[in-house]
Amino acid sequence: MTSRPEFYVKYWGVRGSIPAPGPDTARYGGNTTNLELQAGDVCIAIDGGTGVRLYGQSLLPRMPVNVTFLMTHLHWDHVQGFPFFTPFLLPGNKFEIYSWCHNGGTINDVLRQLMAQPAFPISMDAFQSEVSFKRVDPDQVLEFGDLTVRTALLRHPGGVIGYRFEYKGKVFVHCSDWEHPPDGSLDPVLLDLARDADVLSVDATYTEDEYTGKIGPARRGWGHATHEEAARHGRAAGVKEIVLFHHEQGRTDLELDDMCGNGHLAAASDVSVAAEGRVITFL
Ligand SMILES: [Zn+2]
Ligand SMILES: [Zn+2]
Repeated sequence: MTSRPEFYVKYWGVRGSIPAPGPDTARYGGNTTNLELQAGDVCIAIDGGTGVRLYGQSLLPRMPVNVTFLMTHLHWDHVQGFPFFTPFLLPGNKFEIYSWCHNGGTINDVLRQLMAQPAFPISMDAFQSEVSFKRVDPDQVLEFGDLTVRTALLRHPGGVIGYRFEYKGKVFVHCSDWEHPPDGSLDPVLLDLARDADVLSVDATYTEDEYTGKIGPARRGWGHATHEEAARHGRAAGVKEIVLFHHEQGRTDLELDDMCGNGHLAAASDVSVAAEGRVITFL
């Protein structure tokens, strides 16, 4: 039996908006967002983008499992993998899925719509595991054993929940689908949530030129950050390592290499790029 670290995060999907498979994205990965977090005996997963299919396959040899899903929000790229999460369909597992009520809807509502004719052949009645739904709110503190989870409402159309995970003195913060203030000021809510974290996993969808409209349409108000603002906020919050996440669907492996390898963020040993399969070990 392989022993696993006590506290780690694994990325199963790092792409934003839409899956982007293909030869140009094979190394960083084309699946939309899903992360696994283990803290002692506590298994957490964040979101159910298409990466959650691979996460589900990894759980099969470990079943029965008890996993808590924490949803950032319910946009398509964060839920679209759930109908293909095999452990839901097998008996003996227990899943609790927490979501905020976004624009009047919860993850339960969205899953029912996703898994229904005429768009999908199998309904949630096919679930054989115990799947229950819970509410999470902004500015809440959740305790799971020795793991403490703090939430905040971040800047994104319809709102998004950012999560701060603290376990035995180590801190991981995940802020996906967050837009920096377009006036150039620092976002106090993100700074507070991410303060002095060991790792901040943060939305870095756009280049400066994409955001301002020098390339294609201006993306202000679309709910995502530039690489530069993601790094600037992480540094202002005193974060040790900033992991750029939610890659734009057209961003190639070479461009992602360049962003941290040779580009202007690069000189920076405190900035790296999220990749499918990457594991960050805290303890
Ligand atoms: Zn997204
Ligand atoms: Zn979103």
